[in-house]
This record gives sequence, C-alpha cells and structure tokens, in this order.
Amino acid sequence: MSTAAPAGRRSLPCVIPDTPLAAAVPGIETCVHCGLCLQTCPKYVNLEDENDSPRGRIVLMRSLVDGQLPLDDASVQTHIDRCLGCRACETACPSGVPYGQLLEATRATLRTVRPTPFLGRVILGVFARAKALRVMLVMSRIARATRLPSLFSSIGGRLGFASAMLASTRVSLPEQDYDFGMPGERGVVALLNGCVMSGLFARTNRATRRTLRANDYRIRGAPGQACCGALHAHAGDLDGARMLARQNIEAFERSGADFIGVNAAGCGAMMKEYGHLLADDPEWAARAAQVSARVRDVTELLAAAGPRPGAPLPIRVTYDAPCHLVHAQRVTLPPLAVLRAIPELTLLPLTDAEQCCGAAGIYNLLEPNTSNAVLAPKLRQIASTGADWVATGNPGCLMQIGAGLRRAHARAHAIHPVDLLDVSYASVLRKPIADT
Ligand code: SF4
Ligand code: SF4
Repeated sequence: MSTAAPAGRRSLPCVIPDTPLAAAVPGIETCVHCGLCLQTCPKYVNLEDENDSPRGRIVLMRSLVDGQLPLDDASVQTHIDRCLGCRACETACPSGVPYGQLLEATRATLRTVRPTPFLGRVILGVFARAKALRVMLVMSRIARATRLPSLFSSIGGRLGFASAMLASTRVSLPEQDYDFGMPGERGVVALLNGCVMSGLFARTNRATRRTLRANDYRIRGAPGQACCGALHAHAGDLDGARMLARQNIEAFERSGADFIGVNAAGCGAMMKEYGHLLADDPEWAARAAQVSARVRDVTELLAAAGPRPGAPLPIRVTYDAPCHLVHAQRVTLPPLAVLRAIPELTLLPLTDAEQCCGAAGIYNLLEPNTSNAVLAPKLRQIASTGADWVATGNPGCLMQIGAGLRRAHARAHAIHPVDLLDVSYASVLRKPIADT
C-alpha cells in the first residue's frame, strides 16, 4: 500500500495550526523530491518502500499538515516510528532539508493523538528524573557485576539483547593516571557527564579527562547538569527535552568554561541544537544559542591540539562513525586523528562506516526486529575487516555493536576511541596526575 501523496503537488491550508509540525512547514517545503537521499536511508534500503524513505516521510508530513491524512492514521504512525533518526538523509540532501528537526516535530505532534508506547514512557521518565536514573544505573552496574547479563546474552528477544548490551559495557583495559606536565593553556573545558556514560562507561569519562589534560586543556566541573534530553527529543517529547536543556544551560553557564566537552555523539548533537530547541523561548533563546556554540565533541578538542602522540599500540582497529557525529554534527576527521595519534595502530577501513548501526536512542528496545535488520550488515562488514577493536564514540553505538558482536561470538570488541588513546598515553608516562 502506498500512502505517499504525489510529489510536487499544490500546497493546501494547514489544518493543524499551533503544532510543532505546523511550525516545521518551511523545512518541509525545502524538499524538492529529488530522491538523492533514498539510497542513504537504511530503512528504505531494507524495506524498499517509498513511505519508509526520507522523501516519502516528508510527503506524509505534508499530508498531515494539509489534512489529506489524519493525525491518527495508523500507517503514518508506523512509517514515522520506523525512522531511525540517523539523519544520513540530511548529509545526502542538496537542498538542506532539516530532516532531524522535521522528524522531532512530527513525533511531537503525533504524540497528541497517540502516547509513546509504555516501555518508551518508562525509559524517558527514568531519564528525566535524576534520582530514578541514578538508581537504575546503580542496579545496572550491580547486575553487570554478577555476570548474569553475559549468561543471558545469547537468549532471544529483548531480554537477551538488553543483557548483551549491558554485558558489552564491561571493558577490561588497563587504567593508569599520567601527567605530561603541561600548564593547561589551550582552554577550560566543562564536561557533560552523560547519563549512560557516567553510569556504564565511567572509564571512558576518566579517559576523556586524562587525554584532554594531556593535550593542554584544563578541566572544570559543571554541577547541576542533567540528561541532555536527546532521547526525549527523538521520541517527540520536546517539552521534556526543553526542561532538561534549561537545566544544562544554567549549569554550563555557571561553569564559565570556554568549551563544553562531550564524549557521546548523541548528547553532543542534542546540545549543539539547544539554540533551535529553545528558539521560540524569549527568555532562553540567546542563552541556548551561546551554550550550543561552545559544545565540542571530545575528538574535536583533541584533534585541535594535535593530539599529542602516545606510545605504540600494535592493535588492529576499525572505525564506525556514529550517525549523530557524522550526520548531525558533521564531525568526520577528528576521531580518525585521535586513532592516528597512536603509533603502530593499524586503522582498517570499514565499508559503510557512515551507515546507522540500528541503535538510534531507544529504537533498538522499541523496534528490536528492524533494529537487528539494520545491525546485521554492520556486523558482517566489521567481521570482514579482521579488526580486533571497533572504535565508535557514542554509548548507544558501543552497546548496540558490542551486543551484536557478543551474540555473534565475534573476535572484535567495541571501544570508544578516547579509551585507546588513553591506554597509549598511559604507556608513555606513569606519574600520578594532580587535580586542576
Ligand atoms: S535529498 Fe533532500 S530534497 Fe531530495 S528528496 Fe531527499 S530530502 Fe527531499
Ligand atoms: S533519519 Fe535515517 S532512517 Fe530516517 S529517513 Fe533519514 S536516513 Fe532514513
């Protein structure tokens, strides 16, 4: 069945005024229906249905605005739900269609007639409440320490995959403080702790601090910070995302730092869009834009400093580009610069490294079958490189790819690029580092 209206039709009056989707009409109208985005879309390549392509979804959005399709049309909901939000279509689009913003506006509008599924509501509710989130992450770490997730990794369904995701966050790399004795004059960085990063990738957060210090940055805390709000925005809960964004803007303004360093691509992409998220809020718009302008992925900061070379690590590594780094932030070379700062590291090219792995926030938990269909070719491409490590800078991708590798009994492990640089630096100098 095809629900997409023909391209190039005449515009009709908007029947859903005062909705996020109505406000997104200028973005919808930048689409010229050329179709250059189609082959970059993992869902279109997978399903070969125009309604599951970026172009088809934009036509559906227009049909909702025009009233040619009602907001409660089940087919529209399905096609919008299936989108991974990977934004590969944005990179391919010659017209500059802000697809990610259109998707968020559509999901926010559809939520008015159909609430987020129960599992999604529970996850978003936990991420919006600092205490509940802390409890969940502590329980996750306790569960991880029992090794039960490893045992359950191979069973089918959501439980098996979620167990494999949790088990994959257990990284056994050597850890050692070091001090290169530099004064820290490249700038002051306040780091986003990140919910999942601080809860399950604490080693990577420590590695982020150490590698930035080693490259002449001074680190400063930003107490009072919260979840970045990315999961909420992607699920259409724009009010929830705005509430969290305001909290972070206050915390990072107070820090007075030159840069806001982020080691999770999805969080960095969200924070770089706070200006857009709060553009219609007179009290917060300018502050949001100023905070967004200071956000940098950790690899951008490191690459701006070189980064300084470490000690040789004779390992075989391939790099998978997180969608929210390459497509949303357009950061392509800095992660490679980080890996190339490690002498004797063999960097193996990964075919379709810029294609989504299927994690997409909480998509892999809400839509496990389609998520696995997107992950399968990624795992095949990784296996064909012969790499021992897959470097990628986003917790969702680390867990999705890590779980897939674990369930496939593959030789490779997923790792953040900064962890590898950190091990390389620790091999050069082994002197305790002083807190700045
Ligand atoms: S490439 Fe851009 S303009 Fe062309 S169909 Fe896709 S979204 Fe529309
Ligand atoms: S965001 Fe990704 S999955 Fe969604 S339409 Fe664009 S390319 Fe396809």
